[in-house]
Amino acid sequence: MVDYHAHTNLCGHATGSVSEYIESALSKGIREIGFSDHAPLPESIRGGYTMPADEVDTYIKTVEEQRDRCAHRIAVRVGFEVDYPLRGSFASGYLTDSRIDYLIGSCHFIDGWPFDHPEFIDGYRVREIDDIHARYFSILGSLAESGLFNVVGHFDIVKKFGFRASRDFLPAIEGIARSMAANGVAAEVNTAGLLHPAGEMYPSDSILRVFFNCNVPVTLGSDAHSADQIGYQFPLALEKITGAGYRKISGFLKRKRYDIAV
Ligand SMILES: [Zn+2]
Ligand SMILES: [Zn+2]
Repeated sequence: MVDYHAHTNLCGHATGSVSEYIESALSKGIREIGFSDHAPLPESIRGGYTMPADEVDTYIKTVEEQRDRCAHRIAVRVGFEVDYPLRGSFASGYLTDSRIDYLIGSCHFIDGWPFDHPEFIDGYRVREIDDIHARYFSILGSLAESGLFNVVGHFDIVKKFGFRASRDFLPAIEGIARSMAANGVAAEVNTAGLLHPAGEMYPSDSILRVFFNCNVPVTLGSDAHSADQIGYQFPLALEKITGAGYRKISGFLKRKRYDIAV
């Protein structure tokens, strides 16, 4: 079992230190834990969402220290969750930094609107829901094609607050899946959706089947914002993953994906 999506107290909106997360992972039988704190956003909108740009190196060093300290007990990976489109606040050198094991590319903003943030939920009432979905998936399409990331984060998080599209987006999603497979980009099965009005994981069962049929690799993440959330609902997630047909999930080391049997 692996958990490749965890946020620490460095980002300002999560609690728990790197070592507390590791202890939690060990207590749940997790063999690999990947830290994916949010890469810095521009200073004007960063507050409470991400670490400041000058803490990136401290974060990497902290995870590395704990990785080395715990090497005999658990595999620890250094990662980031990076906003796409890129905003220039995460120095471009980090995108190819050899200390980093993996990058999750995630879309949290549609044309400047933080659509997954509860304080900005009113944005769903002043826009067409189908238009929101169309714009969101078009951003994911370019994220997948960018070649910058190992993983697409919380693939259909646009459903988070339960505003469902009336149009069928599966044909568009299939196009993104083909591009992910061609570019070697994995999807994560992210269990945090179960905690929100969407009431299901990201992605949905039908999208997971599309991923399997298109040969998109998958990994597993809780999107934990506190140490106790590590491994949240993973038995159910593994059931979904194997139910879709997968026999392997992905781990990442030095920006390279590898398979782990499930
Ligand atoms: Zn995210
Ligand atoms: Zn996250």
